[in-house]
This record gives sequence, structure tokens and C-alpha cells, in this order.
Amino acid sequence: MADGCACDRNAQTYLSVPEALKWGLAAAHPVTETETLSLSDSIGRVLAEDCVSKVDMPAFDNSAMDGYAVRMSDLGQGPLFDLPVIGRIAAGDSGRHSAPAGGALRIFTGAPVPAGFDAVLMQEDCEHTTDGIRFARCPKPGQHIRRAGEDLEAGAPILRRGCEIGPREAAALASAGYGEVKVFRKLRVAIFSTGSELRQPGEALGPGQIYNSNRFMLLALLDKQWIELSDRGPVADKPELLKAVLREACDTSDLIVTTGGVSVGDEDHMPLLFTEIGGETDVMKVAMKPGKPIMFGRRKNALYIGLPGNPVSAYVTWQIIGSQMMARRAGLHRAVPIPEQAVLDEPLERRAGRQEYRPVRIEGTLPDGTPRLRLMAASYSGRVALLAQADGLAIIPAETEEMSAGQQLGFLRF
Ligand code: AMP
Ligand code: MG
Repeated sequence: MADGCACDRNAQTYLSVPEALKWGLAAAHPVTETETLSLSDSIGRVLAEDCVSKVDMPAFDNSAMDGYAVRMSDLGQGPLFDLPVIGRIAAGDSGRHSAPAGGALRIFTGAPVPAGFDAVLMQEDCEHTTDGIRFARCPKPGQHIRRAGEDLEAGAPILRRGCEIGPREAAALASAGYGEVKVFRKLRVAIFSTGSELRQPGEALGPGQIYNSNRFMLLALLDKQWIELSDRGPVADKPELLKAVLREACDTSDLIVTTGGVSVGDEDHMPLLFTEIGGETDVMKVAMKPGKPIMFGRRKNALYIGLPGNPVSAYVTWQIIGSQMMARRAGLHRAVPIPEQAVLDEPLERRAGRQEYRPVRIEGTLPDGTPRLRLMAASYSGRVALLAQADGLAIIPAETEEMSAGQQLGFLRF
């Protein structure tokens, strides 16, 4: 697998979470193909080009207020200033105005400030006179004028490739004059859930059967504009069946995400099957709780992530490692989420060794706003209901055996 991988299935080495993440990101090669879309069609996609502004932003000097444009040179000594109003200019007007000296222009927000006018008075600061305005406070030169290019000059970088085009990016691209943008093609992602015990919600449960929650969790997690999702549903723990689905998914996808079947039990077929279809695998024992083991694999273009079957384990491993790998594979440049600081509301005792992501509730806050966290349960890897009731995950460092009430720790808010 990827060069420098310290993990070896046989050696059973445990990787720390940062090591596993580093390895996973190195194995996730970004897509390279791009397409050019209209700006409206590009929303939610991954930008594939560095963009510079095509225009000055704003394009011309304009008023930041509803009020009056004046020339400083027309103002006398005060304490009161009187000027006739000699014209009117609104947003959308050209701003070409041959106003004689000695008068103010009625002006509105966004209207071009004509050449020579060098300050705008707020209308609230002006009184009406018979032919004009009177005001008491001498304006500062340039006041309430938004200068051409003050937000960004034409030619200056506005967005880097690799960002997801969200509301802020879409607005910036529009202002910078982009009618079309180049984006990475959609990432083809296939998912399936392994397990002969799985039933569809809505069906009756037979003995030994459970509802398939991972499938719907993944559908929600992968609901992105930049993903072309292929949902292959549940697949029973029958090696030939699993192998056929896995092979087909690998042939047609950039990324395959499955749940279950990656552990060391007799019904955990995925590692062997992945090898049998010509892939290279690593079951990585990651020193995280919940979560081990996670399986990664590559076969030609396809990257494979095998999440644990236990739903909370699947969710946490996906959030901490899998989703970062997928983002990289899709061409996104995304920083790993930075946990916020929180404090424990109660003492904690546990076994050291694995970095733990423990579901917690926010019990309240300290006076400075820091969340106070209440631990939910010590054993939770299969507890989907508990996950739905949690407010986030507390991060308990691998070496920690005990913590006292009030102690600080990292918190990933949902
Ligand atoms: P496995 O990793 O396949 O050994 O599964 C571990 C546990 O997670 C077992 O109790 C499974 O029944 C459960 N499980 C596996 N897949 C799912 C799923 N899609 N939805 C809910 N529970 C699951
Ligand atoms: Mg299973």
C-alpha cells in the first residue's frame, strides 16, 4: 500500500489517530478531471482552479450611505454648513455628472460617487432647507465612500482551488465576475452494508435480525453535491455475493465505503475478499475508541474504506478518518476540524491506550461560555439512540486514565 505505511495486518501494530490519518490522506489521491460549469450549477462543487478577480471589487467609487455627496472644497468655515442640492444620483446611474461647484448631490447607497465629490454625509446628519441641506459636522475627506478595488483589486487572488463552493464562495465568485468556473468532476462513491442480520426499516424483524442503520447514516453523510452516490444496499455475509458486489463497485467507483465485516471473526470476509479481487489491503488497528479495526484498501483507481459494523464506531471512524480521506480524494483542501475547548462536568476513569471519542451532552456553560460536558455511557459502540441524543464527542487522549471534574478537554460539536 502507500509508501511508508507503518501498519501491517500481521504485525498488528496499533497506529495513533494522527498516524492513521496521515496514512489515509497519503493514500487518497485527488481526482484530476475537471469540468466547466455555470456558476449556478457549480454550487456545492469543488473548485478546480485558482481564481483571481476579473474586476475591481467594487468596480467604482460608490456611496456607503443614503445621504448627500459633497466636495470638501465647497465647505466654508462652519459652525453650520449650507449647500444647495444640485442633482440626484441613485444605484444603477452612470455617475457621470457635470455638477457645477458649490452644491451637494442627493445620493443613495451603491450609487457611483461622481469625480470630484470626496465625502458623503448621512441623511440623518442633514436638515432640509428651502433649496438644499444644512449640517453641523464637517465631514472627513472620503467618509462613507467605498473606493474602487478596496475589497479586492482586479487580478488579485480571490479563491484557491480545492474549496467547496458554498454561499460565501459563490458570492465572491459572482462579485469577481465569474459566470462559469472549473470544478473537479464528481467523486463516484459506492456504499454497501455487510451483514446477514440486516433488514430494511419498515420491514418486520425476524429472530436475530436488526434494522440497517449504517446505510442511512452513510446516505446522510454522503449527501453532497460533489458526490455521485451509488447505494448498493445491504449485502448478506456470503463471500461470493460480497465479492461480486465489491468487484463491481471497485470497477466503477473512485471510493467504496462499506460497514461491517472487517474484524477478525469468521463472518468478517472483507479483508480476504478484497485481496482476492486483486486489491491491496491493510486492516489498520487504530488506537482509537470506538473504532478499531478500520480497513483500507486500493485497487487500481478505487480507494476502499471498510468501517466497523457497530454504528457508533462507524460514525466516529468516518468523521475522524474516513471523511478526511474522501475530501482529499474529491480534490478538497480542507483543514482537519479543530476541536473546541470544553470542561468535564464529572470525574472520569478509564483504561489508557486508545484515543477516545466519547459521546457527551452539553450540561451548561462556564461564565466565559466554555461548554460543560456530561459523559453519556462508558460502553456505547452500538448505541445509535445514544449517538442521536449526544451533542458531540469529547476527545480523551490515549494516555489518559483519569480526569477530574472541571478538567479541560477537546470537544467536537455535532
Ligand atoms: P461487524 O463489524 O460486521 O462484526 O458488526 C458489528 C456489530 O454491528 C454487529 O452487532 C452487527 O450486527 C452490527 N451492525 C453491522 N452492520 C450494521 C448496520 N448496517 N446497521 C446496524 N448495525 C450493524
Ligand atoms: Mg457483520
